[in-house]
Amino acid sequence: MTIDIVEAIPYRIPMRKPLHFASGEVHHIEHVLLRITTADGIVGIADVPPRPYTYGETTASVIEVLTGLFQDALIGTDALDRSLIHARLARTVGNPTAKGAVDIALWDILGKSLGLPVHRLLGGYTQQLPVSHMLGFDSAPALIDEARLFIEQYGIRTFKVKVGRRPLALDIQLTRALREALGPDVELYLDANRGWTASEAIHVLDATSDLGLTYFEEPDDAREVLGRRRLVQLSRIPIVADESAPSLGDAAREIHTGGASALSIKTARTGFTESQKILSFAEAMGIDVIMGNQIDSQLGSIATVTFGAAFEYSSRRAAELSNFLDMADDLMADPIHIENGFVAAPTVPGVGIAIDDHKLASYRIDKE
Ligand SMILES: [Mg+2]
Repeated sequence: MTIDIVEAIPYRIPMRKPLHFASGEVHHIEHVLLRITTADGIVGIADVPPRPYTYGETTASVIEVLTGLFQDALIGTDALDRSLIHARLARTVGNPTAKGAVDIALWDILGKSLGLPVHRLLGGYTQQLPVSHMLGFDSAPALIDEARLFIEQYGIRTFKVKVGRRPLALDIQLTRALREALGPDVELYLDANRGWTASEAIHVLDATSDLGLTYFEEPDDAREVLGRRRLVQLSRIPIVADESAPSLGDAAREIHTGGASALSIKTARTGFTESQKILSFAEAMGIDVIMGNQIDSQLGSIATVTFGAAFEYSSRRAAELSNFLDMADDLMADPIHIENGFVAAPTVPGVGIAIDDHKLASYRIDKE
């Protein structure tokens, strides 16, 4: 299964509802579709979400590295030799979502060549994952309406609330209003995207301690190590590393140095191979993991389901799978359905990404 062609196709789809959070905002998604084709005609597909405010990658830089350095490492190599390919890609630092997509595309090729869903090749633990929906910055009444709509329409019972604004009372009051409106049975957790200092975050934890929150993700900048360690030690709920732990090595460092007590795993940045290593590390350390969302399209979301539903340890908690609902459209030929709060794992050969060619033709931005 020699790799013959590597394509990186940029495309742009507007957001139906722009997403605002402490480290940035998204008005349209401009992603790169990666297609790796073998000499015998098997096509591996993955989605690359460039996130300059998190990883420094841009649409142009993703295309450049995929069709330059990475293409040189891929062409002529057998798609089964993933470890060899990873070793070659690792010579280039950074570029996490470009590397993650290469890994997912290689798994897609493997699954399609065997006629088996990658979800089952990885482990096949469960047939569906519960969904957590992300609430971006907005007024309390608007977010309460949004949450109620998602409970009613999709059966979602878990919400991640984006916080990190000043004055702190804004988000403290918002969280309290959500809890009062939604009742005690809905799971709520916070993500500040480094918007606060450690001392501010400790204040927020104290002020919300009666609200039954389950996690607090990236409350402050983890590089401010002593403040972060103090926060982790004082918190009664797990402090989740997301952007401070974008790789296996970073995850190990943050956990071992007391910078976090839970991990977000995003297949968009660590593919399936490195995500599995992070999952094994978390399991060995006995810390919770949350399957996170890189503001993924349906292509990225189904990859998260393929991985997350494959293992017992990654399917314990609701996974962040619903950001695509904020997008006006998608390239998926067979759209994802959220029913009774769950997304089903793909049963087709490969990762489960099938592209609607007409939509790709209309949204791609490399050919006018
Ligand atoms: Mg996050």
